[in-house]
Amino acid sequence: MGSNEVLKRAECGCCGMWEECTLGYIRWVKQRFAGTWVCGLCEEAIKDEQARLGVGVEAALRVHATFVETANADPAIAIARSILLLLKKKSRRSNLVRRP
Ligand SMILES: [Zn+2]
Repeated sequence: MGSNEVLKRAECGCCGMWEECTLGYIRWVKQRFAGTWVCGLCEEAIKDEQARLGVGVEAALRVHATFVETANADPAIAIARSILLLLKKKSRRSNLVRRP
């Protein structure tokens, strides 16, 4: 087992959700999101914001973090998010294979 296989608890800088991730994966995400670790769901949302607004990663991250704060105040949106997250986790294994 290399050091990259060690699991560490990483907390999302947007929604506060945490996942057990390998150190290599945590570093890889942080590099892409200006030093902030984000969960898979927020990662997708940030990429969407970037494409939609045509802004950089940091600006998109702030836009999404603001959205999450608003969404968490609304139980209906919070439930929709957790369902999405479940679906996401199920498809995670195949997604990871395609990642660089
Ligand atoms: Zn998140």
